[in-house]
Amino acid sequence: MPADSPTFIAPDKIILDQVAGVGPKLLDKLQKMGLNSVEDALYHLPLRYEDRRQFRTISQLQTSRLEVFCAEILVAGEIQTGRSRRRIYEVIVGDETGRISLKWFHYRKNWLHKRFSVGQRIVVIGEVRSFGPQREIHHPETEPVPAGTDPADLLRKEPLKFGRILPVYQLTEGLTQYRIRKIWFNLVNQFAEYLQSPLPASYLCKRQLLPLQQAVSRCHWPPNDSSLAELDQGQDISRSSIVYDEFFFLELGLALKRQGVELARGFAFKVEHRYTKPLNKMLPFQLTDAQRRVLKEIKHDMMAATPMHRLIQGDVGSGKTIVALMAALIAIENQTQVAVVAPTEILAEQHFVIFNSWLKRLGLRCALLRSGLQASEKKHVLQDLHAGKIDLLVGTHAVLQEGVEFKKLGLGIIDEQHRFGVRQRGILKQKGENPDILVMTATPIPRTLSMTLYGDLALSVIDQLPPGRKPVQTFHYQHDQRALAYNLLQKQLTSGRQAYIVYPLVEETEKSDLLAATEAAEALKDHFPAAQIGLLHGRMKQAEKVQTMQAFRDHQIDILVATTVIEVGVDVSNATIMLIEHADRFGLAQLHQLRGRVGRGRDESFCFLISSQQYSEDARRRLEVMVQNNDGFKIAEADLEIRGPGEFLGTRQAGLPDFRVASLLRDVRLLEQAREDAFDYAQNNYYLKSDDCRAIKTELFRRWGGRLDLATIG
Ligand code: ADP
Ligand code: MG
Repeated sequence: MPADSPTFIAPDKIILDQVAGVGPKLLDKLQKMGLNSVEDALYHLPLRYEDRRQFRTISQLQTSRLEVFCAEILVAGEIQTGRSRRRIYEVIVGDETGRISLKWFHYRKNWLHKRFSVGQRIVVIGEVRSFGPQREIHHPETEPVPAGTDPADLLRKEPLKFGRILPVYQLTEGLTQYRIRKIWFNLVNQFAEYLQSPLPASYLCKRQLLPLQQAVSRCHWPPNDSSLAELDQGQDISRSSIVYDEFFFLELGLALKRQGVELARGFAFKVEHRYTKPLNKMLPFQLTDAQRRVLKEIKHDMMAATPMHRLIQGDVGSGKTIVALMAALIAIENQTQVAVVAPTEILAEQHFVIFNSWLKRLGLRCALLRSGLQASEKKHVLQDLHAGKIDLLVGTHAVLQEGVEFKKLGLGIIDEQHRFGVRQRGILKQKGENPDILVMTATPIPRTLSMTLYGDLALSVIDQLPPGRKPVQTFHYQHDQRALAYNLLQKQLTSGRQAYIVYPLVEETEKSDLLAATEAAEALKDHFPAAQIGLLHGRMKQAEKVQTMQAFRDHQIDILVATTVIEVGVDVSNATIMLIEHADRFGLAQLHQLRGRVGRGRDESFCFLISSQQYSEDARRRLEVMVQNNDGFKIAEADLEIRGPGEFLGTRQAGLPDFRVASLLRDVRLLEQAREDAFDYAQNNYYLKSDDCRAIKTELFRRWGGRLDLATIG
């Protein structure tokens, strides 16, 4: 039915009780599953498929597979088994090739009695298990074959039961697979044609994909010549087509955002190396090739008339800060100001220390805006900022607050982007007139993915660590092996190194077996009588935190006992030991970030992961991953595997539309194709202004559901 015909109703507006077989009760159940409209239900795809195209013989049955066969009942009745004398119901069936036992452990006896009588033929559907030589099927699905019926006829006559590949849906209480199938069969017949996607046919043709209606129908009811393996692995053309369709609209939105950025006028900076050259001379090291390359990309952006929107991705310790500093100096050289935003007070403080020390030597002015500032101090900073007396302002979210006004903001830098949303980036942009934006992240994800997650950002990767870095040697110790770790720690202290000891939380509840960092700091004095021990946790006053961190940097503290406040970015290169208590309670990304605090200089560094008395299997896997890998990319992959993509990526936070079917990870190849095509489309249909683009534009906004913030598009 064409979209402009008067009887057409959009499938997201059709309530599910319009589907044959759906009454009020069922409607309620479906709504509880999150299925409200016909569109929702059509996108509710099978979890997997069952091959019921043909019956097998009993000798052909394979274990651990769902099998369908027709056989005669030889024995049926209740029996008692084992030492417990537990009652079970057993039916033994046979055909010309053999016999097999069917067992029920939970059942209503009368119901089964009525169902099974010796001599009757039934169709059995279930997973075959083997116990030694004995093969059994537990709680199979069965269908009586009426006397005189040829089983081959059954295959033809019962299209919802046999003779085809059947969909298996997620079950909900009180609904059988058969009932769901019947409803979805009606649904697809009645409504699949209502699904319309204005996606240009030329792209489908190029990618050899199906139009949306056909793809959805096929996904629910695949034709008999489909490959079951492809269906089950989500590689059938039906699913690929649906995924591509979703990605196309995702990428089209991103393409338009990008056009919006390109359209805007920003600063066209001149690069005369007024400050970067002297800085380069002062640096105690040479930039790595990767840093140099990324810096070149940044310079190119900064010199262009359109505002820079760039993401620097680099593993912990890859040296993102110095690259950001160089970019800042270019902006300052052009008489504009720079804002540096960090996710935590400690990190902001540290950035301030680093930026300030270099800027001071170059005769430039740097200030720190932190939440704990006294009113008068704060006022002072804000005044200077507004008057243009401050070249670079470092701070936390505080920088984004109202009242923080720059004279002329030329560059905004956001560190550890994964801690911020897209919104914060927008706010920072509003603080100037199209300032350049540089964001930095240590979360390593595949390239296409990050281009999508970070939408309109161009990507630079620092894929190289500074020379001489050795992998951090990582060990997992059980809680009662702590002494081993302490011995090694003492050795490092003796040779003049410093250490971090990290605890998950401060002040746990009484019942918890968790060691509080405060208590632990006390206890450690006995173990390391000669060492200066400092304490750092989230509930300390800001000034105390800063003081402690400075003391650690100055080596007045040997062991810093800390909670995860030190997780991101802290950089003290003489610290070579990281000991993490209750390491099993941390996620992989966190562990990697924490471990990244050591191994930042040329010296050998160590990380000891001490596990709790008890920990889960997932935790054990995480610790093992840490012991075996130092590469952030590999760790991210393992993380993904253990946690699953949804939680790992947090697409919501990234401000992207939700997908019904597509997975940003699993479907990377389709994502790349859709990106190429959508960008091509956007290029050829600038701003979708022409009438031909009306349908596509409407659909684009519908899919993004308000998240596509494109001020420039009418
Ligand atoms: P991250 O990418 O995790 O933010 P940092 O920017 O904090 O990493 O850099 C980590 C450490 O490496 C810092 O001590 C920094 O001074 C040092 N560093 C940065 N670049 C180089 C380089 N090219 N050669 C040697 N050391 C470097
Ligand atoms: Mg950093």
